[in-house]
Amino acid sequence: MVYFKVVFKLKDDLKVALGEFTVVKHFWISCAHFLKNVDRCENLHGHNYKITFCLKGKKLDQNDMLLDFREVKRAVKETFDHKCLNDLSIFKKGNFLPTTEMFAKVIFDIISNLCKMKENAPLLKWVEVEETDEVYVRYEEF
Ligand SMILES: [Zn+2]
Repeated sequence: MVYFKVVFKLKDDLKVALGEFTVVKHFWISCAHFLKNVDRCENLHGHNYKITFCLKGKKLDQNDMLLDFREVKRAVKETFDHKCLNDLSIFKKGNFLPTTEMFAKVIFDIISNLCKMKENAPLLKWVEVEETDEVYVRYEEF
């Protein structure tokens, strides 16, 4: 008895599925920040941020993955983990505050650039940054 049928077309050495794959992954990083003119957030404090991202795509890479999510985790951790966000040039140069909103946008850009460098070019659908268990921000581009 056949329970499932996997159908791939071979095109440019990439496996192209008839359907679409969705990968959702989360991981944690710890960062400090402060937000000028925002009540008690004015003082330096830290958060354990939960970072979640969603990738979609029909084409898999040579390892039969949309994208090795360890690469994403490594890139984000190397850039932000155990650092003060206000001190990072990415926030200083952009002249914007490390709010949860802007943090989600900055992380989106990093992951999106990583996706664009891949031959199978998975699509980054959204990034969520959860600052506390009461709030998270989702950033997506249309
Ligand atoms: Zn905060």
